[in-house]
Amino acid sequence: MIVILLGPPGSGKGTHAEEICQNYDLTPISTGNILRNLIATNSNVAKDVAEMMGTGELFPDEMVNNLVAEAINSSIQKPDYKGLLFDGYPRTVCQAVFLEEILKNLNKQVSCVLVFNIPDSMIVERISSRRVDKITGKVYNLISMPPPKEVIENLFQRIDDTEEVIKNRLNIYKEQTEPLIAHYSKSNLIKNIDASKEFENTQKNISLTLQ
Ligand code: AMP
Repeated sequence: MIVILLGPPGSGKGTHAEEICQNYDLTPISTGNILRNLIATNSNVAKDVAEMMGTGELFPDEMVNNLVAEAINSSIQKPDYKGLLFDGYPRTVCQAVFLEEILKNLNKQVSCVLVFNIPDSMIVERISSRRVDKITGKVYNLISMPPPKEVIENLFQRIDDTEEVIKNRLNIYKEQTEPLIAHYSKSNLIKNIDASKEFENTQKNISLTLQ
């Protein structure tokens, strides 16, 4: 099974990705995490990548496509490979077309696209209380999914989770990523998820949808 999570920043894609991967034996491919890992290397490109991510702008399609091609190739070679879950990719029609081509060459195709729907008003509120564990990458929310005491000192706030940058990311989502809903509707792949509900509720909906 190959699943794509599509939704605005703060809609809970990253939070649900881990559980979906566990439940369905999928390998996660999150372009945001790949880029954050690049930043953490402190290499020459790390500073440029951090600066770009701090603006909320999208990285060039070609760069992201190459990173994803590498991630797909290494994931499908693993002996326990069962399927893939894309979180944060594709984000443009150009990326979606690239992904279709890669998968076609591997005799595979996207099984479904889960669209996380959430009102704009909830997004800024959710993102500003989001924290990430720098050791495990697990995403918490200080209000709706409080972290256990023992991980508190490992938590950090993402550089692109400030109010101003969130608004920019939301505009970019509407302009460049939302058109993917029409793109995937043509092949009947869209499944809508109400992402405004609490974690368990949404997770249950996702499980029912993926059955
Ligand atoms: P995310 O963790 O998915 O919210 O991604 C964080 C940031 O990484 C985004 O705001 C973009 O700057 C960049 N990014 C992640 N995925 C992509 C992508 N598929 N295309 C372009 N830029 C991306």
